[in-house]
Amino acid sequence: MKLLKSKEKSKCPYCMEEIAPGAMVCKHCHTILKKPEKKKSRPWWIGNYMLGVYSGIAFMGLMIYLYYRIFG
Ligand SMILES: [Zn+2]
Repeated sequence: MKLLKSKEKSKCPYCMEEIAPGAMVCKHCHTILKKPEKKKSRPWWIGNYMLGVYSGIAFMGLMIYLYYRIFG
């Protein structure tokens, strides 16, 4: 019988029981081990940045529209 140190199994750091690899919740003590991965990989500020860019473009378009509406 081979004595394998299986890398597939990991231990819960809270109760030291063996848990499945990649387990998000320990089945023994029900501690949340991993937070679910965020769907958005982009940092939060890119959203604000892009919102600012789009707002600027929309504002520019509005200004051009008003310019031609008034002076054109
Ligand atoms: Zn546990």
